[in-house]
Amino acid sequence: MRLSRFFIPILKENPKEAEIVSHRLMLRAGMIRQQSQGIYSWLPLGKKVLDKVNNIIREEQNRAGAIELSMPTLQSAELWQESGRYDAYGKEMLRIKDRQDRPMLYGPTNEEMITDIFRSSVKSYKDLPLNLYHIQLKFRDEIRPRFGTMRSREFMMKDAYSFDLTREGAEHSYNKMFTAYLRTFDRLGLRAIPMRADTGPIGGNLSHEFIILADTGESEVFCHKDFVNFDIPAENTDFDSVDGLKSIFDKWTSLYAATSEMHDEAAFNAIPEGERLSARGIEVGHIFYFGTKYSEPMGAKVQGPDGKEHFVHMGSYGIGPTRLVPAIIEASHDENGIIWPESVAPFDVVVINMKAGDEACDGTCELIYAALTKAGKDVLYDDTDDRAGTKFATADLIGVPYQIIAGPRAVANGEVEVKDRKTGARETMTIEAAINRFVA
Ligand code: ATP
Ligand code: MG
Repeated sequence: MRLSRFFIPILKENPKEAEIVSHRLMLRAGMIRQQSQGIYSWLPLGKKVLDKVNNIIREEQNRAGAIELSMPTLQSAELWQESGRYDAYGKEMLRIKDRQDRPMLYGPTNEEMITDIFRSSVKSYKDLPLNLYHIQLKFRDEIRPRFGTMRSREFMMKDAYSFDLTREGAEHSYNKMFTAYLRTFDRLGLRAIPMRADTGPIGGNLSHEFIILADTGESEVFCHKDFVNFDIPAENTDFDSVDGLKSIFDKWTSLYAATSEMHDEAAFNAIPEGERLSARGIEVGHIFYFGTKYSEPMGAKVQGPDGKEHFVHMGSYGIGPTRLVPAIIEASHDENGIIWPESVAPFDVVVINMKAGDEACDGTCELIYAALTKAGKDVLYDDTDDRAGTKFATADLIGVPYQIIAGPRAVANGEVEVKDRKTGARETMTIEAAINRFVA
């Protein structure tokens, strides 16, 4: 992509409305634009990052055996009357009427709809376990939308829903998602801590919130400091192994970690003083086993091996991609801008032409741009005639992991500079070496 042809409305000034660094940087880097309160457009640079985040989420959901579908954003109120949540949900739900005066709503979540899909076609335990997910916009009319897409009214969610015949089966489904979440956040360059979370009035349930430590986070967390060094389950983890996943779950949850609602002072104080961590964090995911809460009122049942009908045991598993993008920035930036982990960077490398119009610089940049693009790299080529200072500032701001800098003096020697955005280290090398560094 040539920068001169791209759409990236960079802001020079710090936007006044942004209270936290991720919001400020997303606006300055031209990633998002607020269209009305808590409702955002994702501009091309932001969209590229969001797509990468979604793809990692998708790969890990698929690896864990979940199956993707797509459900609509608008839902009929009738479904929610069946579960009893239509009245219970309150003002966070955006309620709409269609031209026939039928009550509709913009979905804040999809338990009812997925239960309806399930009950319409699954009749036998032989079709279980089943886990269906989609990555779709949601709407919650939050009282206090803030921090950009961190807490918006319209936001994206990956929501998965599991169906099992028994509680034991549902626990295995839960552990699959638990393991998939550990892998997902790790691949996004984040250390998310699974915290025991409130399960509401129905006892005996299982729930974890995945929290990234950050001073600007809205959740209060208490945990053992060793969570920072835990091993992440490997790519070849066997998701069918009940005992294997149980041992991963037990290992991770053996250490104390809880949000404020579940905080137990005595248990926390039992941790040696130097190993306690109380901090703030950002909730990026939430998994929940809730048994037959929706299957009973909505009549989602299957025939069991005993020939009798059983209400299915369900769980739901959310991740917020549009919150994850700012959360990654909160965790990875410096005074010059964003530092993307390679896995979600909008481009793999930016080629900076220090003297556009100069034959040698243009030729060198075009050569590198063509070679890297051919090798499958996603390259941004700064071919604009901006000042060098502006180019460096832009490249640092948008956080592409590597910069290849072609200035007249180096190019005259057949050389360019390669800069690592994260460490700031710069290295001069031949043009060929620079290409090989990214192709090899
Ligand atoms: P919170 O406590 O932050 O309001 P929640 O408990 O209401 O979140 P869930 O219903 O568990 O959220 O939704 C699953 C995930 O969706 C959350 O972990 C979060 O990543 C994301 N999410 C929820 N609300 C928002 C929002 N207003 N803006 C952006 N992402 C959100
Ligand atoms: Mg939650």
